[in-house]
Amino acid sequence: MRYPSFLMVCGALTFTLVGCTTNEQVEPKEPTTQSPTIDESQTTPNSDREDDVDTESPTDKESTDDKPEVDGQPTEPDPSTETEPTIPAQPIEIDGVANLELDELILVNKQIALPANYQPADLVEANIDFVDSTVGERRMLRKEAAVAIERLMKDAKTAGIDLKGTSAFRSYAYQVNLFNAYVERDGKEQAMKYSAPPGHSEHQTGLAIDVSSASVNYQLTQNLGETVEGKWLADHAHEYGFIIRYQRAFEEETGYMYEPWHLRFIGMEHAKQVHTLNKPYDRYIQEFMK
Ligand SMILES: [Zn+2]
Repeated sequence: MRYPSFLMVCGALTFTLVGCTTNEQVEPKEPTTQSPTIDESQTTPNSDREDDVDTESPTDKESTDDKPEVDGQPTEPDPSTETEPTIPAQPIEIDGVANLELDELILVNKQIALPANYQPADLVEANIDFVDSTVGERRMLRKEAAVAIERLMKDAKTAGIDLKGTSAFRSYAYQVNLFNAYVERDGKEQAMKYSAPPGHSEHQTGLAIDVSSASVNYQLTQNLGETVEGKWLADHAHEYGFIIRYQRAFEEETGYMYEPWHLRFIGMEHAKQVHTLNKPYDRYIQEFMK
C-alpha cells in the first residue's frame, strides 16, 4: 500500500510541476522587453558626455545635424543605420565652450574657451630640458604630448639642434595672473595680440608647449623662426604630432601674432595633414568635422 501511494503522490506532483521543469521553458516571456533595449542604444551617444557644461543643447544639435550630412552614404534602405550615428562629426564648440570630447583635437582660440575648471586628468612632467625658471605644473603636458615632445627633443639633440622648453601647462588661475600682468604693462588691446585671455589659452589643454633656443637666449621672440633651431622645428615638428600653431601668414585669421615657439600637439596623422595643407588649425579642424 505504501509503495503505490508514494508513486501516486509523485505522479501528481510531477503532473503539476511539469510546466516549469521540462521543455516548455522555451516559451517566450514578454516580447515587450525589446523596446527598452532599443531606447538605450539611442541614448548612449549622449549619455557619454559627462564633462559637458550643458548636455541639453548638443543633444538637440546632433539629432538635427545628423540627417542632412549623410552625403557620403549610398541610399540603402538599411533600418539598422537609422539608429546609429554613422558620421563621426562632432561640434567644435558648444555655446563658445570647447568640446572636450574632441580630446587631442580640441579647438581653443579667441572665440572658443575651455571651462574655467578644466584640467586634464593625465598631466605628467615632460622629461626634457627646461629653462631654469620653468617650474612645477608649467613643466607638465598630457601624457601623449609629453612622450611626443621627449622624442622630438631627443632627435633634435641628435641633429645638433639645441632647444629647451620654456612653458607647457598653464592652469586657469595662472592665466588670470599672467593676463592681468600683461594688461597692466601694455594695455588690454596690445595684450590681446600676444596673450590669451583666461580660458582661451591652448596651454590649459596640456597639449601646448613653448620652446626656445640658446641662439635667442631662450626668449620667446619671432627671431627664433630665422634660426637653425626655429627652421628645424618648422620642418620637423609635424613628424612628432606637433604643429607651429600660429603662423605669420594666418595672423589675421587666428588673431595671433606669429609664434615660431608655440607647439601644439594634435597627433601625427593630423599634424602631417595640417603641415602639408598649410592652413590654420582652426580652419582645418572645422573642415574636418563637417
Ligand atoms: Zn605658447
